[in-house]
Amino acid sequence: MQRSEQLFEQAQKFFPGGVNSPVRAFGRVGGVPPYIVKGKGAHIFDADGRRYVDYIGSWGPMILGHAHPEVIEAVKAAAENSLSFGAPTEAETALAELIQSQVPSMEMMRFVSSGTEATMSAIRLARGFTGRDRIIKFEGCYHGHADSLLVKAGSGALTLGEPDSAGVPAELAKLTVTLPYNDPQAIRDLFQSEGDTIAAIIVEPIAGNMGMVHPTLEFLETLRNLCDASGALLIFDEVMTGFRVHLGGAQALFNIRPDLTTLGKVIGGGLPVGAFGGRSDVMRYLAPIGPVYQAGTLSGNPIAMASGFATLKHLTETNCFETLQANTQRLTSGLAASAASHHIPFSSCATGGMFGFFFSTESVVSNLDAVMACDMSRFNLFFHAMLDAGIYLAPSPFESGFVSAAHTQADIDFTLNCADLAMAQLTEAT
Ligand SMILES: *Cc1c(COP(=O)(O)O)cnc(C)c1O
Repeated sequence: MQRSEQLFEQAQKFFPGGVNSPVRAFGRVGGVPPYIVKGKGAHIFDADGRRYVDYIGSWGPMILGHAHPEVIEAVKAAAENSLSFGAPTEAETALAELIQSQVPSMEMMRFVSSGTEATMSAIRLARGFTGRDRIIKFEGCYHGHADSLLVKAGSGALTLGEPDSAGVPAELAKLTVTLPYNDPQAIRDLFQSEGDTIAAIIVEPIAGNMGMVHPTLEFLETLRNLCDASGALLIFDEVMTGFRVHLGGAQALFNIRPDLTTLGKVIGGGLPVGAFGGRSDVMRYLAPIGPVYQAGTLSGNPIAMASGFATLKHLTETNCFETLQANTQRLTSGLAASAASHHIPFSSCATGGMFGFFFSTESVVSNLDAVMACDMSRFNLFFHAMLDAGIYLAPSPFESGFVSAAHTQADIDFTLNCADLAMAQLTEAT
C-alpha cells in the first residue's frame, strides 16, 4: 500500500486525522486506509492497483453498485443543463413522487443535502409543532452530528443527558433523554410521569450504527402507542434503512406508521441528498407556509435529484431487490457456518441489502451493552485478514455492512472462502 501510505501522509497536513469523516481514518482497527481511485459494480480499486469486493458501498448509498450505467447517464444528462439553480425544478417533484409511492407515510416532504440535516430539521419541526423541547433517543442509535443528537445518558432512565462530544452545550444536552434500545418498560416508565413534556421520540427502526441490531416488534409498537397517547411525534430515522432493508423501509417491514421519517443515503444514489417528511399537518408547520424555519442553498439540487431518481427507479422497477436479499442472506449464513465450524462465537443478521455480525457469545445482540461485550480484538484480526484478501468491510465493529444489487453469487462465494481462511487464522491466534 505504498501509494495509499503516501497519500494518507499528505492528507494529514490538511485534514485532522487525514480525513473528512472520522471512521475513514481506520482509527479503531489501525493501519492505513486504502485510497480509492474507482469503482465498478461490486468492486472498488485502490491507488496501489488492488481490487476489493466492497461491502461499505459509501456507507449505504451505492445499492446498485458503483458506476451503474443508468445512474451515470442520468447524472451526465442533468449536468449538461447546469449544476444548480436554487430555483424549483421538476426533478424534485419526480423524486418525491417516487419516494412517496414506496413510503406513503411521507404525505409531504422536504429535500436537504445530508442525513444530519434531515434529522436536525425533523427535530426542530417536532419541537415547533408540539411546543415541547425534550426529545428521546436510544443508546447506540446515531442520528447524524447535530448538537441535540450527539448525546447519550448515564445509567438510569431519568438521568439527564450528558453531551457525547466536546462543544455540545450541557444545557442543550439536558433536553435529550437517552434510553436503552429494545427496552419497552424503560420508555413506559418515562412516559408515565413525563410524557407530556416530550416533543418526539427519534429511533433507528432497525439500528445500524452500533453494528446491526434488530428491534423487537413490542419495542416499536410501544413507541407508537406512547406517542399516540401523549401527543409526542414518532420519528423513524430511516437514513440507513430506507430503500435498503425493504423498498418501503423498516416501517413497511414492521407495519408501523411514524409521524415523521428521515431519509438519506440510498435516495441520493451516491450524491448528497437527505429528506424528511410525514404527516401533512406537521409538515405544514415548515416555512414558507409555517413558523418553523428550514432552508438550503443546494437542497433539491438537480444533479443529486437525477442520481436519486435513476437509482430508485431501477430499484423499484426491476426485481433486483429479491436477488439482493438472497445474496445478503447467503453471505451472513455462510459467515455463521464458517464461524461455527471453527468454534468461534458469532452472531449475525441480514435484512434486505443490510447485514451485521458480532463476535459475540449471545445469539441475538439486542442493545448497546451486548454490543460492547463483543470481542473487539477478534474483530480487528478478522477485519485485517479480510482486507488483505481483498474484502472491504467497514473498519469498525459498530457499523453495518451493505451488499449491492451488483454483487454476484461468485462475489459472495469468494468472500466466504476468504472468511473461512480468516476464521481459521482467528482460531490459531486465540
Ligand atoms: C448516516 C446516518 C445519518 C447521518 O447521515 P449523514 O448523511 O452522514 O449526515 C443519520 N441517521 C442514520 C440512521 C444514519 O445511518
